[in-house]
Amino acid sequence: MPKISCQKQQESYAVGTYGRGSERERYRGATVRESVPFAVLGSVTVAWSSMSTSYDAIIIGTGQAGPSLARRLAAGGKKVAVIERKLFGGTCVNTGCIPTKTMVASAYAAHMAKRAADFGVDTSGVSVDMKRVKARKDAISGQSRVAVEGSLRKQENCTVYQGHARFESAHEVSVGAERLAADQIFINVGARAVVPKLPGVDQVPYLTNTSLLDVDYLPKHLIVVGGSYVGLEFGQMFRRFGSEVTIIEMSSRLAHREDEDVSTAIREILESEGVHIRTDAECIGFSKRGNDIVAKADCKEGEPEIVGTHVLLAVGRQPNTDDLDLDKAGVVVDKRGFIQVDDQLRTSVAGIWALGDCNGKGAFTHTSYNDYEIVAANLLDNDPRRVSDRILAYGLYIDPPLGRVGMTEAEVRKSGRRALLGKRVMTRVARAVEKGESLGLMKILVDAETKEILGAAILGTGGDEAVHCILDVMYAKAPYTVIQRAVHIHPTVSELIPTMLGEIKAI
Ligand SMILES: Cc1cc2nc3c(=O)[nH]c(=O)nc-3n(C[C@H](O)[C@H](O)[C@H](O)COP(=O)(O)OP(=O)(O)OC[C@H]3O[C@@H](n4cnc5c(N)ncnc54)[C@H](O)[C@@H]3O)c2cc1C
Repeated sequence: MPKISCQKQQESYAVGTYGRGSERERYRGATVRESVPFAVLGSVTVAWSSMSTSYDAIIIGTGQAGPSLARRLAAGGKKVAVIERKLFGGTCVNTGCIPTKTMVASAYAAHMAKRAADFGVDTSGVSVDMKRVKARKDAISGQSRVAVEGSLRKQENCTVYQGHARFESAHEVSVGAERLAADQIFINVGARAVVPKLPGVDQVPYLTNTSLLDVDYLPKHLIVVGGSYVGLEFGQMFRRFGSEVTIIEMSSRLAHREDEDVSTAIREILESEGVHIRTDAECIGFSKRGNDIVAKADCKEGEPEIVGTHVLLAVGRQPNTDDLDLDKAGVVVDKRGFIQVDDQLRTSVAGIWALGDCNGKGAFTHTSYNDYEIVAANLLDNDPRRVSDRILAYGLYIDPPLGRVGMTEAEVRKSGRRALLGKRVMTRVARAVEKGESLGLMKILVDAETKEILGAAILGTGGDEAVHCILDVMYAKAPYTVIQRAVHIHPTVSELIPTMLGEIKAI
């Protein structure tokens, strides 16, 4: 097989992250079938195709499932094509988890530096250099992107195409002028920020989670529309960098899917740092006033207008399925555009699977990666893993973070089952007090009959880590007494979980 470069790949890459020259190097590993006639233009070898190039598998998108699946299939001797239209590694690597958590770490450093005197440490003249914050974020995110891309390009039996994929039929996909065919197609196209049709939204320059990451200066007053995970993380982060921040939320409380006590504690954390919060915003709209942006928010209390300098729209995500020509393949989506899949991630069309955020079964990096594990186990290991084996778990990365697993108290109550509840505020957790980070609470719910843990929330320092000992007992389907009798290390947040379980009461 000749190792040559493809014209379409190079053309589309010119608008990507890397320069054309370096890209020629990167494409040395790309494989093109021998039967395609090709010509040489200067030093670039060009493939021309009017018929399909055949593969065993085509993977669309390089999010958290696609690359692992591509490597696994290719390592097993399958001929694999991977198609990516923009940045390798997808949302988590480029515009989601990695860049945001890198910036959350910068914001934490700024916050602790400003609080240094509380700990008996003298500091003066603390300031935040947003250019360096962004440079650090770009470097860490860039390392991951390069690693994902490099691993795919180096992988034997794997051909990388850069461009937008569209279905031509149930077994054919086009990328620019290329047409690829395979019996197995895996869709891992992810999701993007929703731009809501709010009055005046097209009259103002708004930011999304993607464009805000390119900001290398301090917005004077950032208005965040949306009081859920993305909005809360960015809101606290920019407040800690030094911006004035107002979060506008349509429902009556922040992170409204959480229990009311958790929502209230999140609000207290943010307000203690000077974030303005406007809930019950019934009619949100925008207009320009000089250089400022005016957000109209008909809240039950407070001024009807908020005047800021920048607006972040953080009201949800929509799947990238509207520009895939799925109808040509017959793949069924729901009314929000999520691809319908069964418990083993098969779509309505035999030979096509959907993994990650685009199937609506999860909205996290770990759920997308687990989708890869499920598909690989079913196809390659004769192991019938299922999505329904997965227990809901996620983090909300404000500081202190929220670690969440399983059901909320509201869901348990609604289910009508007999249940037990344990709860402890973080002011009663020695480690939190010692660290001077005692805001938040932890709570746990247990089924009164089976003694199995139903769910938990730890909003507090280290909560995202500590919650895993609860999650693992849930996966083990062990009774709560296993963890209640475990001897945890002192002083940790986790050491209070057995104590809390010793105090559970009927709800
Ligand atoms: C601000 C923010 C913070 C987040 N923080 C966390 C967190 O802390 N923890 C967590 O677990 N999750 C977090 N998430 C969610 C997480 O990023 C996603 O759930 C995760 O990236 C899974 O995505 P995926 O595998 O479905 O696809 P994605 O990572 O979205 O990748 C999809 C890829 O497909 C490509 N693509 C799309 N359409 C086409 C096409 N037609 N042709 C070719 N390529 C195409 C895209 O360019 C993209 O590279 C966060 C998200 C955001 C927005």
